[in-house]
Amino acid sequence: METFGLNVTNGLIFDVSDVSDDFADFIKSNFRSIYLKKNLIFPLKLKDGGYIMLITVATKGDAVKDVILKLGLDYNFPLKTQKIDENELIGIINSYYEISLKDGGDGKSSGKDGGAGETGRGGGDGWTTDAEENLDDLKSIDIIDVTSDAPAIKLINTLILEAVKENASDIHIEPYYDRLTVRFRIDGSLTDKLTLKPGVLPVLVSRIKVMSNLDIAEKRLPQDGRIELTVKNRPVDIRVSVIPTIFGERAVLRILDKSLKLFDINEVGISGAYMDTVYDSLRKTHGMIISTGPTGSGKTTTLYSFINTVKKLYPDKNIMTIEDPVEYQIGGIAQISINPKIGLTFSTGLRHILRQDPDIIMIGEIRDFETAEIAVQSALTGHLVFSTLHTNDAASAFTRLTDMGVEPFLISSSVLIVFAQRLLRVLCPKCKEPVKGFSAVGTTVDYYSKILADEFGLTPQNIKEMGDKEIYVAKGCDFCAQTGYRGRTAVYEILEFNDEIRTMVMSKSSSSEIKAAAVKNGMNTLRREAFKKFAEGLTSLEEVIRITQKD
Ligand SMILES: [Zn+2]
Repeated sequence: METFGLNVTNGLIFDVSDVSDDFADFIKSNFRSIYLKKNLIFPLKLKDGGYIMLITVATKGDAVKDVILKLGLDYNFPLKTQKIDENELIGIINSYYEISLKDGGDGKSSGKDGGAGETGRGGGDGWTTDAEENLDDLKSIDIIDVTSDAPAIKLINTLILEAVKENASDIHIEPYYDRLTVRFRIDGSLTDKLTLKPGVLPVLVSRIKVMSNLDIAEKRLPQDGRIELTVKNRPVDIRVSVIPTIFGERAVLRILDKSLKLFDINEVGISGAYMDTVYDSLRKTHGMIISTGPTGSGKTTTLYSFINTVKKLYPDKNIMTIEDPVEYQIGGIAQISINPKIGLTFSTGLRHILRQDPDIIMIGEIRDFETAEIAVQSALTGHLVFSTLHTNDAASAFTRLTDMGVEPFLISSSVLIVFAQRLLRVLCPKCKEPVKGFSAVGTTVDYYSKILADEFGLTPQNIKEMGDKEIYVAKGCDFCAQTGYRGRTAVYEILEFNDEIRTMVMSKSSSSEIKAAAVKNGMNTLRREAFKKFAEGLTSLEEVIRITQKD
């Protein structure tokens, strides 16, 4: 199939599978590129027999009529138009008529054919994009040799499609002295995806800036923007950050897939023993529930599951959120994205939300004193507040809030429960290798004995008690992209607030003292919870050590 690929056109990606298979022949046999460029129009033929006319703000109505006539259609034929940027349209036309192709992967573009400039495109060439194209095919793209930005469009579109397909959370475009590296973050770890020549960078970054409405000319200052598009019928929101480095602008695209499933509280991995405690807190009419952890630890997913649950429990309540940005759209509640550029921050947004008579408020993150203060005040005055804090463990939430300037007595009278969470990679079910039991002999066990003693404080006796339970190590296969892991599972540390902890917060005890007291009261730490997953054969010991801190 020959199409110009997934075309991002003002936020719309045409699903290549909708484009007619004979489209390339169709366009070349019906139109000359010069005609399409002059009239600024590109008719896209779809499999269902319909057409989408790509036009620009400068396209004349007569041109549309003319194309309809040329296509032999009558005016009642179903026809959609899509306005796109003029350069983008020209780029698309170029990609059909003028761009000659790389040959066999040495990275050289053979340049334009002279003369008529309508050389057409050979079958199976390097510029055709269909949904199955893989990244290896892109390695040889030589964008700098090409005058139009169509290859950059194709490259970035393919990267986004590929990232969405692989459930990557971020695309990193990293310039170095001698190369440009593209990495994807999948299941929390960065993986190399593509290495390009450094010369590709400016065109690629310009294209990203166009898509995210950033200033193309500004190359010295960091910029933030966003792209909203649809990939294979899924709405995808992309947060874009561009910063200048000594080797050029580095771009990170964070992908928020809005069609992701919204979990219920009993689906996020909170162990049964804690469920009653969590439900008790969710049933309260006021107070604060805090979820802690680093970026990418699943805090927001957990808060959303709380919202989802209270929404079902209390359909009569007014639920409002303020987020950075709204990551999942939940029906029946009011969600607001912060926008600091126009002064809509967490704290200002929160003040306004309070005038909207909310019962339950979710604050994406507490980062400053102002937000913390309003959050605590709201929790004390009849609102149930969910929020997140950037701390390493549950006990540190209190010190973080006092460090921000919140009075300890306000914290101790508002907080109901604090979560800490991490996402652990799950061993690939197709290649995980069993290591027979702890009591087996050999170097493996010696290795484990040492780690179990050093990291987990287990004695040889403890280890012996674990018996012949099968544990696994990561190996790697095609199914898991040689990583040994596939998917993730959440582990939680849940700190219940009782009188002892309350007193300790009031007296400004340290987070380690609070943690020790909580453990004494039966709190399972992140490390212990993660170790359980290892003992169940779900993850590796290395992953437990990587993700959690020693208690
Ligand atoms: Zn595998």
